Amino acid sequence: LDFPLALSLSGVSSGYNGGRALHAVSLEVAEGSVHAIVGHNGAGKTTLMSTVAGELAVAEGRIWFDGKDISRTAPHRRAKRGIGYVPQGRRVFKSITVAEHLAIAHRDRKSEWNPARVIDLFPRLGERMKHKGAQLSGGEQQMLAIARALLTSPRLLLLDEPTEGLAPAIVEQIRGTLGKLAAEGMTILLAAPQPEWPIAIADHISVLSAGKLTASIPGSEARDDASSLLEALTIT
Ligand code: ATP
Repeated sequence: LDFPLALSLSGVSSGYNGGRALHAVSLEVAEGSVHAIVGHNGAGKTTLMSTVAGELAVAEGRIWFDGKDISRTAPHRRAKRGIGYVPQGRRVFKSITVAEHLAIAHRDRKSEWNPARVIDLFPRLGERMKHKGAQLSGGEQQMLAIARALLTSPRLLLLDEPTEGLAPAIVEQIRGTLGKLAAEGMTILLAAPQPEWPIAIADHISVLSAGKLTASIPGSEARDDASSLLEALTIT
C-alpha cells in the first residue's frame, strides 16, 4: 500500500470459550480509507470488529494501530488511542435522552468533535434531543450510535452492520454521511452482509467466510465488476 497504515492485522485468530471463530486474518487499512468486510451471518464479522475494538482477546497474531502493537491493549485504552466502535445493535440506552447520550459521550474530552458538530452531521438528532432511546427509530438509534462514537474523536471508526434493518432512504443517508466523513479523512472499517451498499464508498472490500478472509479487492474494481466478490460470498 502507498499510504500510511492506520490499522493492520497479521494472522489474527480469536473466538469464544477456547474455540476459534476467526482464523489467521491478515488485513491492512490505509489511513483515510474505507474498508468494507462483507460476509454472511455467522461468517465472523462481529468477532473481527470486537477483536479490533478489544472486547474479544487476540488468541494468535497481532493488531497494530497507528504503528503500535495494540494486541493486548484494553478496550478503553484503544478507544482513547482513537478507535471508535459502533457495535452491531447500536447499544443505545432506552431510558436516557439523545442530549444525555451526547453529553455522556462528550464529557471530560477536549475534542475536535462536540454535540453541535455531530448535530450538524445528523440534523435529525438535533430534532430529537429530548427523546429517550426507546422512542427513537432504528435509523435515529444508528445515527446516535455513530454520533456517540464520533464524540470520542476517533481516527478509526469500526461500524458493525450500520444499516441493519433500516429503510432504504435511511441506508442512503447513513452512506452519504459515512462518505462525507471519509472525505474529511476518517478511516473506516465496516461490516455488512452484502457488498451492495458499501460498494459506493469503499476503497477496499474483503470477503469473510467461515472466519477466513477469502477475497479482497479494491473498491474501484468491485464497482466495475462485483462478480468475484459475489462468487467468494457464495463459496462457504
Ligand atoms: P452476524 O451477521 O450474525 O452478526 P457475523 O458475521 O457477525 O454474523 P459472528 O457473530 O462474528 O458472525 O459469529 C462468528 C461465529 O462465532 C459464529 O459461528 C457464531 O455462532 C460464533 N459466536 C458468535 N458470538 C459467540 C458467542 N458469544 N459465544 C460463542 N460463539 C459465538
